[in-house]
Amino acid sequence: MATIVLRNPRREVSVDGPKRVKVVLRDLDIDADTVLVIRGDELLTREDVIEDGDHIEIRPVISGGAATTTKCRRCKAKAVVELRRHNTAFCKECFLHFFRNQVSRAIESDRMLREGDRVLVAVSGGKDSLALWDVLIDLGYDTTGFHIVLGTGDEYAAESLRICRSFAGSRGVELVVSDLAAEFGFTIPDLPHDTGRPTCSACGLTKRHLISKAARDGGFDVIAIGHNLDDEAAVLLGNTLRWDAEYLARQGPVLGDDTGFVRKVKPLHRLSEKETATYAFLRRIDYLVEECPLVAGNTQLRYKQALDLLEQAAPGTKASFYGGFIDRAKERFTAEGPPALHACSSCGMPTPGDVCAFCRMVEMKRRKASRESA
Ligand code: AMP
Ligand code: ZN
Repeated sequence: MATIVLRNPRREVSVDGPKRVKVVLRDLDIDADTVLVIRGDELLTREDVIEDGDHIEIRPVISGGAATTTKCRRCKAKAVVELRRHNTAFCKECFLHFFRNQVSRAIESDRMLREGDRVLVAVSGGKDSLALWDVLIDLGYDTTGFHIVLGTGDEYAAESLRICRSFAGSRGVELVVSDLAAEFGFTIPDLPHDTGRPTCSACGLTKRHLISKAARDGGFDVIAIGHNLDDEAAVLLGNTLRWDAEYLARQGPVLGDDTGFVRKVKPLHRLSEKETATYAFLRRIDYLVEECPLVAGNTQLRYKQALDLLEQAAPGTKASFYGGFIDRAKERFTAEGPPALHACSSCGMPTPGDVCAFCRMVEMKRRKASRESA
């Protein structure tokens, strides 16, 4: 018997070995592109064999790429990862090389970072942002991490912070922490009831505001965020389904060049979720595997699932949908010039109005709380 542990939701099943990974996954009705299959400290591909006595973890990555060849395309050693959308497979060293190369190319082709830039890396404790921080350190950039304790579930928030701290400690780099409860007296779960904003929208606004403010206050040249191909393709699908021309014109890997905000870049925008999870695993980065406990019902998750279905039938669909947009279609949408911005009268951040959206939300929350306590 081999033990198979599935994460999210957690359950355990036993299988009689020997059996190929692809057979076990098929029997469990799992799409190989959406998971990492882990035995001890090695990754298994679909052709690997699970033996009796094996202890296997099946770890979801939410989506991604995976081939029938199990030899590394570059060096012909045994492959540990299959990238179906590239119709290829790599061994550990060659995959790490491929990944770093993709990040460097993205940075160069969009001139995301310049030599000497002080980079603030926004880290959640998840695979994408920690993989991003790891590669940027490796490529020699001057980085500082920034983590917001959002209070989305006590245990989840504490674990996210512990993981970010431990990563920073292990790499000898600085982590700046901002604690929402300590600084503002509320956490994300408090917001929907008091402000009428849906959870993910309130959380997104809070993150964008605090990250931009930390970058400005700390004198950083640029902010790096961990959005990957799956995130960007899902956002693009949403923008397209609504034909939101303004958002389409603004979506891209470099944001804010023409505004009063510190520039924001997404060096992982052409790498899939499976690729970033694989990188994080192979680099032995301890990251939070669990999804945010508040994410259930999130629209973007639905778009990701729809795209996963298409990707499964035709690997490469996400990359051509998003890549085609960035390379050929985006220029057809024009955004209205950025509105005239002034300093928010409460926090000083640039805003088209008198008070920025974040400060308005905070004010609403305070008013509601004081009404309720009166
Ligand atoms: P998400 O909005 O959760 O998809 O995260 C997108 C990106 O925002 C991540 O890759 C990080 O770069 C950043 N981010 C998310 N959560 C946090 C957090 N708690 N603190 C700092 N940055 C975050
Ligand atoms: Zn403000």
